[in-house]
Amino acid sequence: MTQATRAIWRIRSVGFSVAIAEPWKVSLHGGHSGDFCAHGHDTLREMLDAAVSFGYSTFGVTAHSAAVDPKFLYEEEVEAGLGVDDLAQTFRDYASTCAELVTEYSDRIEVLVGAEVEIVPESSFADQAAKLKQDFHLDYLVGSVHWVDEMPFDTTSGDFEKAVANRGGLEPFVLRYFQLISEMIDRVKPEVIGHFDLPRLFSDGAPELESSAVKSAVASTLEKASAAGSILDLNVGSLAKGLSTPYPAPWIVRLATDIGVPFCFGDDSHSIAQVGAGLVEGREYLLANGVESITSLKRESGTIVKTTMPLSR
Ligand SMILES: [Zn+2]
Ligand SMILES: [Zn+2]
Repeated sequence: MTQATRAIWRIRSVGFSVAIAEPWKVSLHGGHSGDFCAHGHDTLREMLDAAVSFGYSTFGVTAHSAAVDPKFLYEEEVEAGLGVDDLAQTFRDYASTCAELVTEYSDRIEVLVGAEVEIVPESSFADQAAKLKQDFHLDYLVGSVHWVDEMPFDTTSGDFEKAVANRGGLEPFVLRYFQLISEMIDRVKPEVIGHFDLPRLFSDGAPELESSAVKSAVASTLEKASAAGSILDLNVGSLAKGLSTPYPAPWIVRLATDIGVPFCFGDDSHSIAQVGAGLVEGREYLLANGVESITSLKRESGTIVKTTMPLSR
């Protein structure tokens, strides 16, 4: 029995299961908790405890940025009677709670504090993202596209079909999606790009997703990501939703690697059950597609820097 195994055994024998932290166990997208997100569950503190138990070395929490226009509220926010002012206050509470928890957990795990920002409203999303980062001293941003033509498309299959029909079909929809990702990269320059091929959620396996026009749009978007120095979120949240692989698809993983865009993991957790779920599979998936290392972020002398870790032992 190694010392590490003995440590696990000792901890298990008193009723806890705590895995040993490993450098590759990082998530830069997730930690959407029930106390700060209308569609999340469990508290942020419980999420961090779960992250420690899983053995994460770094866990980035990335609350959704608050909608600034009521037309971009999500259904569950409307149902909960929340308005833009309530969401702004929730984000302030999130930032102050995070500031306390970063210090409290610093002996067990590096907690990074970010936000998952949107591309709506079209005219001002980049200014808002920059302001959010500055006002709350966020460590980094995850830039995601959840809206096309101001219609949400990852909420339900019905919403997806409406957004696709509005563009006149799946291929034009996906092309528009990657155009918006490109615009978001240009204007926000996010440290992390969230779930790069999210339209796959309700169209996995459709041939349109790999048409020559889509392949060329993906390649040019990845070139932009490379120029901006962004990291791609190897998002394993897709597995729990029944998709065959994490985001992005294998051919995109290989293309990104050829272009030189690095990956980090994102568990996209919205509850303690999702903290770390799928990460082991995600590691295998990257290795199977020729990715030997992941790139994460860490605090160094008061700033955030990139750090790269091998995936193989
Ligand atoms: Zn969410
Ligand atoms: Zn997202």
